[in-house]
Amino acid sequence: MKNITTQEISEKVSLALYEACHNLNSCTLNLLKEAHSNEEDITPRTILDQLLENAQIARKEGIPMCQDTGIVTAFVKIGRDVHLEGDIHDAINEGVRDAYEKYYLRKSVADPITRLNTKNNTPAIIHIDIVEGDNLSITLAPKGAGSENMSRLAMLNPTDGIEGIKEFILKAVKEAGGRPCPPIFLGVGIGGNFEKSAEMAKEALMRLNPSSDPTIAKLEAELKDEINKTGIGPMGLGGKTTCLGVFINTFPCHIASLPVAVNIQCHANRHVEVVL
Ligand code: SF4
Repeated sequence: MKNITTQEISEKVSLALYEACHNLNSCTLNLLKEAHSNEEDITPRTILDQLLENAQIARKEGIPMCQDTGIVTAFVKIGRDVHLEGDIHDAINEGVRDAYEKYYLRKSVADPITRLNTKNNTPAIIHIDIVEGDNLSITLAPKGAGSENMSRLAMLNPTDGIEGIKEFILKAVKEAGGRPCPPIFLGVGIGGNFEKSAEMAKEALMRLNPSSDPTIAKLEAELKDEINKTGIGPMGLGGKTTCLGVFINTFPCHIASLPVAVNIQCHANRHVEVVL
């Protein structure tokens, strides 16, 4: 049995949030560089250059890569052989509070009705799973509203099938246009029920590699190609690069349902995993 204190968790969470907001992960950076070399026109090339320069300045000078430092989602996996000394929700929220105050990250969380700001970016949205082992892993994703607001969920008819799913996803991307600051990533949840599909869509964005299921990996690649044919382009100003990756998670669903959720992520693709 491994003992983990709330203080250890809070400290790791705070540092990880600094990392996420200032250091764009190498996978996203490489995809942006690849996109830059694929573009021929001056406008998309210039925008991709600026996004790469922005990421470099953020890392070197300790300035957040975007002013919208988001609301924090945490995907927590607690090993059965972990003993937590205290409450995991309190520990994560303390780490969020510390990071947003200490590193001067924008406080972007408010009561939904009064719109009064909570002034420390808490609470985080926390999803917890129990897994085998004696590790505690927390994947933190501070996500801005520009891309989150373009997310969509539909309860399709099962007879809509794969073509209906693709049509819904492409419609969501086209309606979003330049608003989620493309190039985008797409997290998609297919199946489960209403809330399960949305959670899967968000969690799919945490991986930056194709699905291990060959059928789903093929669908991810096809959708990415289709999205890039829309010509929306970097920042919606035209070009070959609208989407850097599509990630789909699936789960069995009711025979009379076909839930599909689309969670759009902007180029400021911030997520970091901490393991204790
Ligand atoms: S969509 Fe992303 S890059 Fe655009 S303002 Fe929001 S957080 Fe920043």
